[in-house]
Amino acid sequence: CGIIGYVGPQDAQQVIIDGLRRMEYRGYDSAGIAVVAGGRLSTAKKAGKLTNLEAVLASAPLPASNQGIGHTRWATHGAPTDVNAHPHVSNDGRVALVHNGIIENFAELRAELEAEGTTFVSETDTEVAAHLLARELRSVPLLEAMCALANRLRGAFTLVAVDAQDPEHVVAARRNSPLVVGVGNGENFLASDVLAFIAHTRDVIELGQDEAVLISRDEITVVNFDGTPAHTRRYHVDWDTSA
Ligand code: GLU
Repeated sequence: CGIIGYVGPQDAQQVIIDGLRRMEYRGYDSAGIAVVAGGRLSTAKKAGKLTNLEAVLASAPLPASNQGIGHTRWATHGAPTDVNAHPHVSNDGRVALVHNGIIENFAELRAELEAEGTTFVSETDTEVAAHLLARELRSVPLLEAMCALANRLRGAFTLVAVDAQDPEHVVAARRNSPLVVGVGNGENFLASDVLAFIAHTRDVIELGQDEAVLISRDEITVVNFDGTPAHTRRYHVDWDTSA
Protein backbone atom coordinates (compact mmCIF):
# COMPACT_ATOMS: atom_id res chain seq x y z
CA CYS A 1 0.00 0.00 0.00
CA GLY A 2 1.20 3.49 -0.83
CA ILE A 3 0.06 7.03 -1.48
CA ILE A 4 1.45 9.90 -3.51
CA GLY A 5 0.29 13.44 -4.27
CA TYR A 6 1.92 15.92 -6.64
CA VAL A 7 1.70 19.56 -7.71
CA GLY A 8 4.25 21.12 -10.06
CA PRO A 9 5.31 21.62 -13.66
CA GLN A 10 5.86 17.94 -14.51
CA ASP A 11 3.25 15.61 -15.99
CA ALA A 12 1.31 14.47 -12.91
CA GLN A 13 0.39 11.05 -14.31
CA GLN A 14 4.03 10.19 -14.97
CA VAL A 15 5.24 11.36 -11.55
CA ILE A 16 2.44 9.49 -9.78
CA ILE A 17 2.80 6.16 -11.61
CA ASP A 18 6.60 6.26 -11.09
CA GLY A 19 6.02 6.95 -7.39
CA LEU A 20 3.57 4.07 -7.02
CA ARG A 21 6.06 1.80 -8.79
CA ARG A 22 8.73 2.66 -6.19
CA MET A 23 6.34 1.65 -3.37
CA GLU A 24 5.33 -1.68 -4.94
CA TYR A 25 7.56 -3.60 -2.54
CA ARG A 26 5.05 -2.83 0.23
CA GLY A 27 2.43 -5.06 -1.39
CA TYR A 28 -1.04 -4.11 -2.72
CA ASP A 29 -4.05 -5.51 -4.55
CA SER A 30 -5.31 -2.53 -6.61
CA ALA A 31 -4.10 0.85 -7.88
CA GLY A 32 -5.63 4.16 -8.92
CA ILE A 33 -4.95 7.76 -9.90
CA ALA A 34 -6.84 11.07 -10.14
CA VAL A 35 -5.74 14.32 -11.78
CA VAL A 36 -7.35 17.76 -12.00
CA ALA A 37 -7.58 19.41 -15.42
CA GLY A 38 -9.87 22.17 -16.65
CA GLY A 39 -11.87 22.28 -13.42
CA ARG A 40 -12.67 18.56 -13.60
CA LEU A 41 -11.42 15.35 -12.06
CA SER A 42 -10.22 12.48 -14.21
CA THR A 43 -9.71 9.14 -12.50
CA ALA A 44 -8.56 5.66 -13.44
CA LYS A 45 -8.45 2.67 -11.09
CA LYS A 46 -8.00 -1.04 -11.48
CA ALA A 47 -7.76 -4.18 -9.36
CA GLY A 48 -4.49 -6.09 -9.64
CA LYS A 49 -0.98 -4.95 -10.46
CA LEU A 50 0.11 -1.50 -11.55
CA THR A 51 0.52 -2.87 -15.08
CA ASN A 52 -3.28 -3.34 -15.19
CA LEU A 53 -3.77 0.35 -14.38
CA GLU A 54 -1.11 1.30 -16.92
CA ALA A 55 -2.98 -0.70 -19.59
CA VAL A 56 -6.14 1.30 -18.80
CA LEU A 57 -4.18 4.56 -19.02
CA ALA A 58 -2.57 3.50 -22.30
CA SER A 59 -5.95 2.94 -23.95
CA ALA A 60 -7.68 5.92 -22.28
CA PRO A 61 -5.03 8.48 -21.25
CA LEU A 62 -5.88 11.04 -18.58
CA PRO A 63 -5.70 14.69 -19.66
CA ALA A 64 -2.37 16.44 -19.19
CA SER A 65 -2.25 17.79 -15.64
CA ASN A 66 0.17 19.23 -13.12
CA GLN A 67 -1.73 18.11 -10.03
CA GLY A 68 -2.90 14.72 -8.87
CA ILE A 69 -2.99 11.82 -6.41
CA GLY A 70 -2.24 8.11 -6.61
CA HIS A 71 -2.83 5.02 -4.48
CA THR A 72 -2.02 1.38 -4.11
CA ARG A 73 -4.55 -0.45 -1.94
CA TRP A 74 -4.27 -3.25 0.53
CA ALA A 75 -7.97 -4.03 1.02
CA THR A 76 -9.31 -4.12 4.57
CA HIS A 77 -13.01 -3.26 3.96
CA GLY A 78 -14.49 -4.48 0.67
CA ALA A 79 -13.02 -6.94 -1.83
CA PRO A 80 -10.14 -5.94 -4.14
CA THR A 81 -12.35 -4.85 -7.07
CA ASP A 82 -12.16 -1.95 -9.52
CA VAL A 83 -15.02 -0.13 -7.75
CA ASN A 84 -13.44 -0.49 -4.31
CA ALA A 85 -10.05 0.74 -5.57
CA HIS A 86 -9.13 4.31 -4.68
CA PRO A 87 -9.47 7.24 -5.43
CA HIS A 88 -13.04 7.67 -4.24
CA VAL A 89 -15.01 10.59 -5.67
CA SER A 90 -17.76 12.64 -4.00
CA ASN A 91 -21.27 12.75 -5.50
CA ASP A 92 -20.76 16.34 -6.69
CA GLY A 93 -17.63 15.29 -8.61
CA ARG A 94 -15.52 17.78 -6.70
CA VAL A 95 -13.37 15.64 -4.39
CA ALA A 96 -11.09 12.71 -5.20
CA LEU A 97 -9.51 11.08 -2.14
CA VAL A 98 -7.11 8.24 -1.35
CA HIS A 99 -6.56 6.55 2.00
CA ASN A 100 -4.24 4.11 3.66
CA GLY A 101 -5.41 2.71 7.00
CA ILE A 102 -8.76 1.92 8.61
CA ILE A 103 -11.61 4.28 9.52
CA GLU A 104 -13.11 2.57 12.54
CA ASN A 105 -16.33 4.61 12.75
CA PHE A 106 -17.16 4.45 9.03
CA ALA A 107 -20.49 2.65 9.54
CA GLU A 108 -22.04 5.44 11.61
CA LEU A 109 -20.63 8.10 9.27
CA ARG A 110 -22.04 6.23 6.28
CA ALA A 111 -25.48 6.07 7.91
CA GLU A 112 -25.32 9.81 8.62
CA LEU A 113 -24.38 10.62 5.02
CA GLU A 114 -26.97 8.25 3.52
CA ALA A 115 -29.65 9.93 5.65
CA GLU A 116 -28.65 13.20 3.94
CA GLY A 117 -29.05 11.63 0.50
CA THR A 118 -25.43 10.73 -0.30
CA THR A 119 -25.09 7.77 -2.68
CA PHE A 120 -22.36 5.20 -1.98
CA VAL A 121 -20.83 3.10 -4.74
CA SER A 122 -18.16 1.09 -2.88
CA GLU A 123 -17.93 -1.22 0.14
CA THR A 124 -14.89 0.58 1.57
CA ASP A 125 -14.50 2.39 4.86
CA THR A 126 -12.71 5.11 2.86
CA GLU A 127 -15.62 6.38 0.79
CA VAL A 128 -17.20 8.24 3.77
CA ALA A 129 -14.09 10.47 3.83
CA ALA A 130 -14.54 11.64 0.21
CA HIS A 131 -18.17 12.56 0.86
CA LEU A 132 -17.45 14.26 4.18
CA LEU A 133 -14.65 16.35 2.65
CA ALA A 134 -16.99 17.49 -0.15
CA ARG A 135 -19.63 18.43 2.41
CA GLU A 136 -17.12 20.52 4.41
CA LEU A 137 -15.86 22.19 1.21
CA ARG A 138 -19.25 23.74 0.67
CA SER A 139 -18.56 26.05 3.63
CA VAL A 140 -14.80 26.23 4.37
CA PRO A 141 -11.47 26.26 2.43
CA LEU A 142 -9.61 23.06 1.55
CA LEU A 143 -7.20 22.79 4.50
CA GLU A 144 -9.90 23.67 7.02
CA ALA A 145 -12.20 21.12 5.37
CA MET A 146 -9.52 18.42 5.70
CA CYS A 147 -9.10 19.23 9.41
CA ALA A 148 -12.87 19.08 9.95
CA LEU A 149 -12.91 15.68 8.21
CA ALA A 150 -9.99 14.36 10.26
CA ASN A 151 -11.72 15.42 13.46
CA ARG A 152 -14.70 13.23 12.55
CA LEU A 153 -12.63 10.07 12.01
CA ARG A 154 -11.45 7.37 14.42
CA GLY A 155 -8.74 4.89 13.54
CA ALA A 156 -5.67 5.10 11.33
CA PHE A 157 -5.37 7.19 8.21
CA THR A 158 -3.14 8.80 5.70
CA LEU A 159 -5.53 10.82 3.55
CA VAL A 160 -4.62 12.75 0.40
CA ALA A 161 -7.18 14.64 -1.70
CA VAL A 162 -7.74 17.12 -4.51
CA ASP A 163 -10.60 19.54 -5.21
CA ALA A 164 -11.62 19.85 -8.90
CA GLN A 165 -12.33 23.54 -8.34
CA ASP A 166 -8.83 24.21 -6.97
CA PRO A 167 -6.14 24.00 -9.66
CA GLU A 168 -3.28 24.79 -7.27
CA HIS A 169 -3.37 22.60 -4.18
CA VAL A 170 -3.24 19.06 -2.83
CA VAL A 171 -4.29 18.46 0.79
CA ALA A 172 -3.49 15.65 3.23
CA ALA A 173 -3.77 14.52 6.86
CA ARG A 174 -2.45 11.77 9.07
CA ARG A 175 -3.16 9.84 12.26
CA ASN A 176 -1.44 6.56 13.23
CA SER A 177 -0.19 6.23 9.64
CA PRO A 178 2.80 7.86 7.91
CA LEU A 179 2.82 11.02 5.75
CA VAL A 180 5.85 12.90 4.40
CA VAL A 181 6.20 16.03 2.28
CA GLY A 182 8.82 16.11 -0.46
CA VAL A 183 10.05 19.68 -0.75
CA GLY A 184 10.93 20.45 -4.36
CA ASN A 185 11.94 23.52 -6.31
CA GLY A 186 8.70 24.91 -7.79
CA GLU A 187 7.01 21.57 -7.08
CA ASN A 188 5.99 19.65 -3.98
CA PHE A 189 5.09 16.06 -3.15
CA LEU A 190 3.08 14.18 -0.54
CA ALA A 191 3.58 10.49 0.14
CA SER A 192 3.33 7.69 2.65
CA ASP A 193 6.97 6.80 1.92
CA VAL A 194 10.00 8.94 0.99
CA LEU A 195 10.80 6.44 -1.79
CA ALA A 196 7.77 7.70 -3.74
CA PHE A 197 9.50 11.00 -4.59
CA ILE A 198 13.19 10.30 -3.94
CA ALA A 199 13.91 10.58 -7.70
CA HIS A 200 12.79 14.24 -7.51
CA THR A 201 13.84 15.56 -4.09
CA ARG A 202 15.59 14.46 -0.92
CA ASP A 203 14.34 17.34 1.20
CA VAL A 204 11.63 16.04 3.48
CA ILE A 205 9.19 17.24 6.13
CA GLU A 206 7.76 14.42 8.21
CA LEU A 207 4.30 15.16 9.56
CA GLY A 208 3.60 14.57 13.24
CA GLN A 209 0.58 12.84 14.72
CA ASP A 210 -2.76 14.55 13.97
CA GLU A 211 -1.36 17.03 11.47
CA ALA A 212 -2.70 18.20 8.11
CA VAL A 213 -0.86 19.82 5.21
CA LEU A 214 -1.70 21.91 2.16
CA ILE A 215 0.80 22.07 -0.70
CA SER A 216 1.02 24.20 -3.82
CA ARG A 217 4.00 24.54 -6.18
CA ASP A 218 5.73 27.00 -3.86
CA GLU A 219 4.05 26.72 -0.47
CA ILE A 220 3.69 24.14 2.30
CA THR A 221 1.33 24.83 5.19
CA VAL A 222 1.27 22.37 8.10
CA VAL A 223 -1.35 22.63 10.84
CA ASN A 224 -2.69 20.63 13.75
CA PHE A 225 -6.24 19.36 13.36
CA ASP A 226 -7.45 22.37 15.41
CA GLY A 227 -6.02 24.68 12.73
CA THR A 228 -3.07 26.02 14.74
CA PRO A 229 0.35 26.06 13.02
CA ALA A 230 2.35 22.85 13.57
CA HIS A 231 6.06 22.80 14.33
CA THR A 232 7.84 21.19 11.41
CA ARG A 233 11.34 19.84 11.02
CA ARG A 234 12.93 19.55 7.61
CA TYR A 235 15.66 17.00 6.92
CA HIS A 236 17.74 15.77 4.03
CA VAL A 237 17.68 12.11 3.06
CA ASP A 238 21.22 11.02 2.26
CA TRP A 239 20.88 7.26 2.22
CA ASP A 240 21.57 5.34 -0.97
CA THR A 241 18.50 4.09 -2.83
CA SER A 242 20.24 2.25 -5.64
CA ALA A 243 20.11 -1.13 -3.91
N1 GLU B 1 -9.25 0.58 4.46
C1 GLU B 1 -9.11 1.06 3.12
C2 GLU B 1 -9.70 0.07 2.12
O1 GLU B 1 -9.87 -1.07 2.42
C3 GLU B 1 -7.66 1.38 2.76
C4 GLU B 1 -6.76 0.18 2.73
C5 GLU B 1 -5.30 0.57 2.48
O2 GLU B 1 -4.59 0.94 3.45
O3 GLU B 1 -4.86 0.50 1.32
O4 GLU B 1 -10.02 0.44 1.03
